[in-house]
Amino acid sequence: MNCGRCHHSDEAHEEGPSMTGSGRCSLPGCTCRVFEEPFAALDEM
Ligand SMILES: [Zn+2]
Ligand SMILES: [Zn+2]
Repeated sequence: MNCGRCHHSDEAHEEGPSMTGSGRCSLPGCTCRVFEEPFAALDEM
């Protein structure tokens, strides 16, 4: 699954404060601060 904001993988995002979401993106140069669920991916089952 990729982030809806920066399109990086969820593994690139650090552990978030909540159990359901991830925190900031750890990739260098990325300014994404919170993992966002991509809406399109929900259709790809
Ligand atoms: Zn992101
Ligand atoms: Zn990112």
